[in-house]
Amino acid sequence: PAFDPKNKMIAKSAKLANVCYDIRGPVLERARQMEDEGQRIIKLNIGNVAVFGLEPPEEIVRDMIRNLPDSAGYTDSKGLFAPRKAIMHYTQQKGIANVTIDDIYLGNGASELIVMSMNALLNPGDEVLIPAPDYPLYTAAVALSTGTPVHYICDESVGWMPDIADMRSKITPNTRAIVVINPNNPTGALYPREVLEQIVQVAREHQLIIFADEIYDKTLYDDAEHVSIASLADDVLFLTFNGLSKNYRSCGYRSGWMIVSGDKRYARDYIEGLNMLASMRLCANTPGQLAIQTALGGYQSINDLVKPGGRLRRQRDLAYELLNAIPGVSCVKPQAALYLFPKLDPAIYPIEDDQQFILELLEAERVLLVQGTGFNWKKPDHFRVVFLPHEDDLREAIGRIARFLESYRKR
Ligand code: PLP
Repeated sequence: PAFDPKNKMIAKSAKLANVCYDIRGPVLERARQMEDEGQRIIKLNIGNVAVFGLEPPEEIVRDMIRNLPDSAGYTDSKGLFAPRKAIMHYTQQKGIANVTIDDIYLGNGASELIVMSMNALLNPGDEVLIPAPDYPLYTAAVALSTGTPVHYICDESVGWMPDIADMRSKITPNTRAIVVINPNNPTGALYPREVLEQIVQVAREHQLIIFADEIYDKTLYDDAEHVSIASLADDVLFLTFNGLSKNYRSCGYRSGWMIVSGDKRYARDYIEGLNMLASMRLCANTPGQLAIQTALGGYQSINDLVKPGGRLRRQRDLAYELLNAIPGVSCVKPQAALYLFPKLDPAIYPIEDDQQFILELLEAERVLLVQGTGFNWKKPDHFRVVFLPHEDDLREAIGRIARFLESYRKR
């Protein structure tokens, strides 16, 4: 029976013991309660772009509406031909070689495909190298797939670049893959070609798969250029994840994709596993699939938001300046994505439990953030700020954070 009479409960699977996703964790629960009580909370906690008045491009919305009556059916498990063809064209633009239509999988957001790719690969004891800090889905997905997440450090003192020596030192005979999140959530770092080449070299030497998350590849500031790591080699196996959620402000449409590229010679069995899992969930939602072609081939309005004077660029600059002006707070300027990951000087803010710290901030100032340990950063000395709200709201929110920190210093 499912009911365990001794412990008087229906227990969750032991597979979930190490699965954690704090971005939607207990602090958010408390924020919900406070909102139910009628309090207004400024939310700098999640990259839910469209709710901040950053709506999807009009042409995508119109296209979705037009297609809706004809998109009630299942599609092929990997997805419809036309959007996959559009993605194939995009891989050509990004310099990812030899991608055929069969190498492209559409999903209900990149999230589904990330979990699928780990599930299809890992056995108990298999290790995957994941950045710290990370986007915590990777650590959770590896744990759920009975693998062991092993974190390599990204170094704040050099703009949050991956520490290649640390990465190398953590490789064991059980290591199967390296996760590279570029542009990075939560740090906003964008990796130059030389850093990516070093990661490819590590993968090459140890025959590791590279999982490349490039979901922010068009959300770039300061005229930066994004290099797809999969464009740098054809003798390593790459799985590249992307989608409409961020660059096209359409995360509710749940539209993402995965591209298998590079050295597929020995990957036939793994690819069979991927195909099996893609079949089991039947297909990605059809309206979301149909939006892809219009998005990739349409007007790239993200460029207007990130250019000098653009809304996202102004908000990034403002948040960066205001946070750095708070005593004992320092942060690296994000070159991409939607986040800052400031550091709290432990000599000034001796925090022991950063979730508690974030909860106290929420109670005192009605500003919602996510604690650094929620991104598998081991020390309780960071937090993540989403700079999506309008400048007025950002000014208000960071002002409240500053006030809270001032009271914290006086404790
Ligand atoms: N990858 C990264 C790095 C993210 O930050 C996010 C969302 O915040 C996702 C993947 C999830 O993407 P999707 O909405 O396509 O599932």
